[in-house]
Amino acid sequence: MIIHFKKDTTSTQIEELRSEIQGIIFQQDNESILVSPSSLKQVPQQFQSIVSSEYVMTSDIQLADKSYIKHREIQLDDLVIGNGMNTHLIGGPCSVESWEQIDQTASFLKNLGIKTLRAGCFKPRTSPYTFQGLGEEGLELLAKAREKHGLNIITEVKDSSHIDLVIEHTDIVQIGTKAMYDTSILRRCGQSNKPILLKRGFGSTLQEFVQAAEFILSQGNPNVILCERGIRTFESKTRFTLDLTGVAYIKHHINLPIFVDPSHAMGYRYGVPDLTRAAVAMGIDGLLIETHPTPEKALSDASQQLNFDEFEQMYHSLQPVAQAVGRTII
Ligand code: PEP
Ligand code: MN
Repeated sequence: MIIHFKKDTTSTQIEELRSEIQGIIFQQDNESILVSPSSLKQVPQQFQSIVSSEYVMTSDIQLADKSYIKHREIQLDDLVIGNGMNTHLIGGPCSVESWEQIDQTASFLKNLGIKTLRAGCFKPRTSPYTFQGLGEEGLELLAKAREKHGLNIITEVKDSSHIDLVIEHTDIVQIGTKAMYDTSILRRCGQSNKPILLKRGFGSTLQEFVQAAEFILSQGNPNVILCERGIRTFESKTRFTLDLTGVAYIKHHINLPIFVDPSHAMGYRYGVPDLTRAAVAMGIDGLLIETHPTPEKALSDASQQLNFDEFEQMYHSLQPVAQAVGRTII
Protein backbone atom coordinates (compact mmCIF):
# COMPACT_ATOMS: atom_id res chain seq x y z
CA MET A 1 0.00 0.00 0.00
CA ILE A 2 1.29 3.49 -0.82
CA ILE A 3 0.28 6.19 1.64
CA HIS A 4 0.47 9.98 1.26
CA PHE A 5 -0.13 12.27 4.23
CA LYS A 6 -1.97 15.46 5.01
CA LYS A 7 0.27 18.55 5.08
CA ASP A 8 0.50 19.03 8.85
CA THR A 9 1.37 15.40 9.66
CA THR A 10 4.54 15.12 11.76
CA SER A 11 7.37 12.69 11.09
CA THR A 12 6.68 11.11 14.49
CA GLN A 13 3.12 10.27 13.45
CA ILE A 14 4.34 8.77 10.18
CA GLU A 15 6.96 6.71 12.01
CA GLU A 16 4.31 5.48 14.47
CA LEU A 17 2.24 4.21 11.57
CA ARG A 18 5.30 2.67 9.91
CA SER A 19 6.27 0.75 13.01
CA GLU A 20 2.74 -0.62 13.18
CA ILE A 21 2.43 -1.75 9.55
CA GLN A 22 6.12 -2.10 8.43
CA GLY A 23 7.44 -0.64 5.21
CA ILE A 24 9.63 2.25 4.15
CA ILE A 25 9.32 6.04 4.33
CA PHE A 26 10.97 8.26 1.75
CA GLN A 27 10.86 11.90 0.73
CA GLN A 28 9.78 13.13 -2.68
CA ASP A 29 9.06 16.74 -3.64
CA ASN A 30 9.05 17.76 0.04
CA GLU A 31 6.50 15.11 0.86
CA SER A 32 6.85 11.93 2.94
CA ILE A 33 5.54 8.77 1.34
CA LEU A 34 5.12 5.48 3.19
CA VAL A 35 5.08 2.21 1.27
CA SER A 36 3.92 -0.79 3.29
CA PRO A 37 3.91 -4.42 2.13
CA SER A 38 1.21 -4.84 -0.51
CA SER A 39 -0.56 -7.43 1.67
CA LEU A 40 -1.88 -4.49 3.72
CA LYS A 41 -5.20 -3.39 2.22
CA GLN A 42 -6.36 -0.81 4.76
CA VAL A 43 -4.76 1.85 7.00
CA PRO A 44 -5.54 1.05 10.67
CA GLN A 45 -8.51 3.08 11.89
CA GLN A 46 -6.55 5.18 14.41
CA PHE A 47 -4.23 6.55 11.67
CA GLN A 48 -6.83 7.36 9.04
CA SER A 49 -7.05 11.04 10.02
CA ILE A 50 -3.44 11.74 8.87
CA VAL A 51 -3.78 10.08 5.44
CA SER A 52 -4.45 12.23 2.38
CA SER A 53 -4.45 9.43 -0.20
CA GLU A 54 -3.83 5.70 -0.24
CA TYR A 55 -3.23 3.25 -3.07
CA VAL A 56 -4.06 -0.40 -2.52
CA MET A 57 -1.67 -2.51 -4.60
CA THR A 58 -1.91 -6.09 -5.78
CA SER A 59 1.80 -7.00 -5.44
CA ASP A 60 5.07 -5.51 -4.20
CA ILE A 61 5.47 -3.86 -7.57
CA GLN A 62 4.07 -0.64 -6.17
CA LEU A 63 5.88 2.63 -7.00
CA ALA A 64 6.60 1.34 -10.54
CA ASP A 65 3.00 0.33 -11.18
CA LYS A 66 0.94 2.34 -13.65
CA SER A 67 -2.03 2.24 -11.28
CA TYR A 68 -0.02 4.51 -8.92
CA ILE A 69 1.69 6.82 -11.43
CA LYS A 70 0.77 6.36 -15.06
CA HIS A 71 4.04 7.36 -16.58
CA ARG A 72 7.47 8.65 -15.52
CA GLU A 73 9.88 10.74 -17.57
CA ILE A 74 13.53 11.41 -16.88
CA GLN A 75 15.20 14.71 -17.70
CA LEU A 76 18.84 14.42 -18.74
CA ASP A 77 19.99 17.95 -19.56
CA ASP A 78 17.93 18.82 -22.64
CA LEU A 79 16.94 15.19 -23.30
CA VAL A 80 13.73 13.67 -22.03
CA ILE A 81 13.78 9.91 -21.62
CA GLY A 82 10.45 8.10 -21.61
CA ASN A 83 8.24 10.76 -23.19
CA GLY A 84 6.80 8.25 -25.66
CA MET A 85 8.13 10.19 -28.65
CA ASN A 86 11.81 9.24 -28.72
CA THR A 87 14.02 6.17 -28.72
CA HIS A 88 17.32 7.16 -27.16
CA LEU A 89 20.18 5.34 -28.88
CA ILE A 90 23.23 4.75 -26.68
CA GLY A 91 26.38 3.29 -28.21
CA GLY A 92 29.89 2.42 -27.17
CA PRO A 93 32.31 -0.41 -26.55
CA CYS A 94 31.82 -3.08 -23.91
CA SER A 95 34.90 -1.80 -22.05
CA VAL A 96 37.03 1.32 -21.98
CA GLU A 97 40.39 -0.01 -23.23
CA SER A 98 42.48 3.07 -24.09
CA TRP A 99 42.16 6.79 -24.79
CA GLU A 100 42.53 6.20 -28.49
CA GLN A 101 39.71 3.64 -28.54
CA ILE A 102 37.29 5.75 -26.51
CA ASP A 103 38.16 8.97 -28.34
CA GLN A 104 37.59 7.33 -31.76
CA THR A 105 34.28 5.85 -30.63
CA ALA A 106 33.08 9.11 -29.08
CA SER A 107 33.91 11.08 -32.19
CA PHE A 108 32.20 8.48 -34.44
CA LEU A 109 29.01 8.55 -32.31
CA LYS A 110 29.02 12.33 -32.05
CA ASN A 111 29.24 12.67 -35.85
CA LEU A 112 26.20 10.43 -36.21
CA GLY A 113 24.27 12.68 -33.84
CA ILE A 114 24.26 10.26 -30.91
CA LYS A 115 24.18 11.91 -27.50
CA THR A 116 25.29 9.26 -25.03
CA LEU A 117 28.41 7.11 -24.83
CA ARG A 118 28.45 3.89 -22.85
CA ALA A 119 31.50 1.87 -21.85
CA GLY A 120 32.39 -0.25 -18.85
CA CYS A 121 35.27 0.40 -16.44
CA PHE A 122 34.51 -2.14 -13.72
CA LYS A 123 33.59 -5.27 -15.65
CA PRO A 124 31.68 -8.09 -13.97
CA ARG A 125 33.45 -10.84 -15.92
CA THR A 126 32.50 -14.49 -15.63
CA SER A 127 36.18 -15.53 -15.51
CA PRO A 128 38.70 -14.00 -13.07
CA TYR A 129 41.50 -14.48 -15.64
CA THR A 130 40.17 -12.21 -18.38
CA PHE A 131 40.33 -8.40 -18.67
CA GLN A 132 38.52 -6.89 -15.68
CA GLY A 133 38.31 -3.28 -16.91
CA LEU A 134 40.53 -0.22 -16.39
CA GLY A 135 38.73 0.80 -13.20
CA GLU A 136 39.29 4.38 -12.09
CA GLU A 137 41.59 5.09 -15.02
CA GLY A 138 38.70 4.16 -17.33
CA LEU A 139 36.42 6.61 -15.53
CA GLU A 140 38.98 9.35 -16.11
CA LEU A 141 39.10 8.53 -19.83
CA LEU A 142 35.32 8.68 -20.00
CA ALA A 143 35.32 12.04 -18.23
CA LYS A 144 37.86 13.29 -20.76
CA ALA A 145 35.68 12.04 -23.65
CA ARG A 146 32.64 13.76 -22.16
CA GLU A 147 34.59 17.01 -21.93
CA LYS A 148 36.00 16.80 -25.45
CA HIS A 149 32.90 15.56 -27.31
CA GLY A 150 30.04 16.86 -25.17
CA LEU A 151 28.42 13.43 -24.79
CA ASN A 152 26.55 12.05 -21.79
CA ILE A 153 28.38 9.17 -20.16
CA ILE A 154 27.00 5.92 -18.84
CA THR A 155 29.07 3.27 -17.09
CA GLU A 156 28.46 0.34 -14.88
CA VAL A 157 28.73 -0.15 -11.13
CA LYS A 158 29.79 -3.69 -10.28
CA ASP A 159 30.02 -3.62 -6.49
CA SER A 160 29.86 -1.26 -3.53
CA SER A 161 33.63 -0.54 -3.48
CA HIS A 162 33.45 2.02 -6.32
CA ILE A 163 29.81 3.04 -6.26
CA ASP A 164 30.33 6.65 -5.12
CA LEU A 165 33.06 7.14 -7.71
CA VAL A 166 30.80 5.92 -10.52
CA ILE A 167 27.86 8.05 -9.37
CA GLU A 168 30.14 11.10 -9.28
CA HIS A 169 31.69 10.57 -12.74
CA THR A 170 28.68 9.59 -14.86
CA ASP A 171 25.43 11.02 -16.17
CA ILE A 172 23.62 7.67 -16.02
CA VAL A 173 24.66 4.79 -13.76
CA GLN A 174 24.27 1.26 -15.13
CA ILE A 175 23.54 -1.66 -12.84
CA GLY A 176 24.38 -4.85 -14.71
CA THR A 177 22.60 -8.16 -14.93
CA LYS A 178 24.71 -9.78 -12.20
CA ALA A 179 24.32 -6.87 -9.79
CA MET A 180 20.54 -6.63 -10.16
CA TYR A 181 19.99 -8.43 -6.86
CA ASP A 182 22.61 -6.43 -4.92
CA THR A 183 20.41 -4.46 -2.55
CA SER A 184 23.36 -2.35 -1.27
CA ILE A 185 23.97 -1.08 -4.80
CA LEU A 186 20.25 -0.60 -5.41
CA ARG A 187 19.73 1.34 -2.17
CA ARG A 188 22.80 3.51 -2.67
CA CYS A 189 21.67 4.37 -6.22
CA GLY A 190 18.28 5.21 -4.73
CA GLN A 191 19.92 7.85 -2.54
CA SER A 192 21.33 9.63 -5.56
CA ASN A 193 19.35 11.68 -8.04
CA LYS A 194 21.20 10.36 -11.08
CA PRO A 195 19.29 8.35 -13.68
CA ILE A 196 19.90 4.64 -13.03
CA LEU A 197 19.74 2.11 -15.85
CA LEU A 198 18.86 -1.23 -14.27
CA LYS A 199 19.47 -4.31 -16.37
CA ARG A 200 17.35 -7.38 -15.88
CA GLY A 201 19.10 -10.28 -14.14
CA PHE A 202 19.42 -13.00 -16.76
CA GLY A 203 17.74 -15.48 -14.44
CA SER A 204 15.15 -13.18 -12.96
CA THR A 205 11.40 -13.04 -13.48
CA LEU A 206 9.72 -9.79 -14.44
CA GLN A 207 8.37 -9.54 -10.89
CA GLU A 208 11.90 -9.79 -9.43
CA PHE A 209 13.24 -7.36 -12.02
CA VAL A 210 10.72 -4.65 -11.24
CA GLN A 211 10.98 -5.28 -7.49
CA ALA A 212 14.73 -4.55 -7.83
CA ALA A 213 13.70 -1.18 -9.28
CA GLU A 214 11.43 -0.70 -6.24
CA PHE A 215 14.56 -0.75 -4.02
CA ILE A 216 15.82 2.33 -5.89
CA LEU A 217 12.47 4.12 -6.14
CA SER A 218 11.71 3.61 -2.45
CA GLN A 219 14.88 5.48 -1.46
CA GLY A 220 13.51 8.54 -3.24
CA ASN A 221 15.18 8.37 -6.65
CA PRO A 222 12.41 8.36 -9.29
CA ASN A 223 14.88 8.27 -12.20
CA VAL A 224 15.00 4.57 -13.00
CA ILE A 225 15.24 3.08 -16.49
CA LEU A 226 14.64 -0.64 -17.00
CA CYS A 227 16.72 -2.53 -19.55
CA GLU A 228 15.89 -5.90 -21.08
CA ARG A 229 19.17 -7.60 -22.08
CA GLY A 230 18.22 -11.22 -22.58
CA ILE A 231 17.42 -14.04 -20.21
CA ARG A 232 18.83 -17.54 -19.95
CA THR A 233 16.68 -20.21 -21.53
CA PHE A 234 17.33 -23.77 -22.76
CA GLU A 235 18.65 -22.26 -26.01
CA SER A 236 22.42 -22.31 -26.49
CA LYS A 237 22.86 -21.24 -30.13
CA THR A 238 22.53 -17.62 -29.01
CA ARG A 239 24.07 -16.12 -25.87
CA PHE A 240 20.71 -15.34 -24.21
CA THR A 241 17.10 -14.98 -25.37
CA LEU A 242 15.84 -11.42 -25.82
CA ASP A 243 12.55 -11.30 -23.96
CA LEU A 244 10.47 -8.92 -26.05
CA THR A 245 7.40 -10.50 -24.48
CA GLY A 246 8.63 -9.08 -21.19
CA VAL A 247 9.09 -5.69 -22.85
CA ALA A 248 5.40 -5.79 -23.82
CA TYR A 249 4.51 -6.60 -20.20
CA ILE A 250 6.61 -3.68 -18.92
CA LYS A 251 5.15 -1.24 -21.45
CA HIS A 252 1.66 -2.23 -20.38
CA HIS A 253 2.00 -2.38 -16.60
CA ILE A 254 5.07 -0.43 -15.50
CA ASN A 255 5.53 3.35 -15.40
CA LEU A 256 9.33 3.36 -15.96
CA PRO A 257 11.10 3.92 -19.30
CA ILE A 258 12.17 0.68 -20.98
CA PHE A 259 15.41 0.20 -22.93
CA VAL A 260 16.57 -2.85 -24.84
CA ASP A 261 20.11 -4.20 -25.20
CA PRO A 262 20.16 -6.62 -28.14
CA SER A 263 23.98 -6.96 -28.11
CA HIS A 264 24.24 -9.00 -24.91
CA ALA A 265 21.12 -11.01 -25.75
CA MET A 266 22.40 -12.13 -29.13
CA GLY A 267 26.09 -12.48 -28.34
CA TYR A 268 26.98 -12.37 -32.05
CA ARG A 269 27.12 -9.27 -34.18
CA TYR A 270 25.21 -10.83 -37.07
CA GLY A 271 21.87 -10.76 -35.21
CA VAL A 272 22.15 -7.38 -33.54
CA PRO A 273 20.70 -5.13 -36.32
CA ASP A 274 17.61 -7.34 -36.80
CA LEU A 275 16.93 -7.56 -33.06
CA THR A 276 17.41 -3.81 -32.77
CA ARG A 277 14.82 -3.14 -35.46
CA ALA A 278 12.42 -5.59 -33.83
CA ALA A 279 12.82 -3.81 -30.50
CA VAL A 280 12.40 -0.34 -32.05
CA ALA A 281 9.20 -1.57 -33.75
CA MET A 282 7.73 -2.21 -30.29
CA GLY A 283 8.03 1.47 -29.37
CA ILE A 284 10.77 1.50 -26.74
CA ASP A 285 12.45 4.37 -24.93
CA GLY A 286 16.03 3.48 -25.66
CA LEU A 287 18.69 1.12 -26.90
CA LEU A 288 22.13 0.04 -25.77
CA ILE A 289 24.28 -1.19 -28.64
CA GLU A 290 27.90 -2.22 -28.35
CA THR A 291 30.27 -0.81 -30.95
CA HIS A 292 34.06 -0.84 -31.15
CA PRO A 293 36.61 0.49 -33.68
CA THR A 294 38.05 -3.03 -34.12
CA PRO A 295 35.64 -5.53 -32.54
CA GLU A 296 37.81 -8.55 -33.27
CA LYS A 297 40.50 -7.03 -31.01
CA ALA A 298 38.10 -6.07 -28.20
CA LEU A 299 39.15 -7.14 -24.71
CA SER A 300 35.59 -8.14 -23.76
CA ASP A 301 32.49 -9.19 -25.72
CA ALA A 302 34.44 -9.23 -29.00
CA SER A 303 31.95 -11.37 -30.92
CA GLN A 304 28.91 -9.12 -30.39
CA GLN A 305 30.25 -5.60 -30.96
CA LEU A 306 29.44 -3.89 -34.26
CA ASN A 307 32.20 -2.15 -36.15
CA PHE A 308 31.52 1.48 -37.10
CA ASP A 309 30.30 0.65 -40.64
CA GLU A 310 27.87 -1.92 -39.29
CA PHE A 311 26.67 0.46 -36.60
CA GLU A 312 26.14 3.28 -39.07
CA GLN A 313 24.26 1.06 -41.51
CA MET A 314 22.02 -0.16 -38.71
CA TYR A 315 21.50 3.38 -37.44
CA HIS A 316 20.18 4.58 -40.81
CA SER A 317 17.75 1.66 -40.99
CA LEU A 318 16.18 2.50 -37.62
CA GLN A 319 14.59 5.88 -38.29
CA PRO A 320 11.82 4.56 -40.64
CA VAL A 321 11.00 1.78 -38.17
CA ALA A 322 10.83 4.29 -35.33
CA GLN A 323 8.65 6.62 -37.40
CA ALA A 324 6.21 3.80 -38.12
CA VAL A 325 5.51 3.63 -34.38
CA GLY A 326 5.45 7.40 -33.83
CA ARG A 327 8.97 7.80 -32.47
CA THR A 328 12.23 9.45 -33.44
CA ILE A 329 15.64 7.93 -32.84
CA ILE A 330 17.74 10.46 -30.96
C1 PEP B 1 27.72 -4.72 -20.37
O1 PEP B 1 26.81 -3.88 -20.54
O2 PEP B 1 28.79 -4.66 -20.96
C2 PEP B 1 27.39 -5.86 -19.53
C3 PEP B 1 28.32 -6.54 -18.88
O3 PEP B 1 26.06 -6.12 -19.52
P1 PEP B 1 25.21 -7.19 -18.70
O4 PEP B 1 25.27 -6.77 -17.29
O5 PEP B 1 23.84 -7.06 -19.33
O6 PEP B 1 25.82 -8.54 -18.98
MN1 MN C 1 29.50 -6.09 -22.86
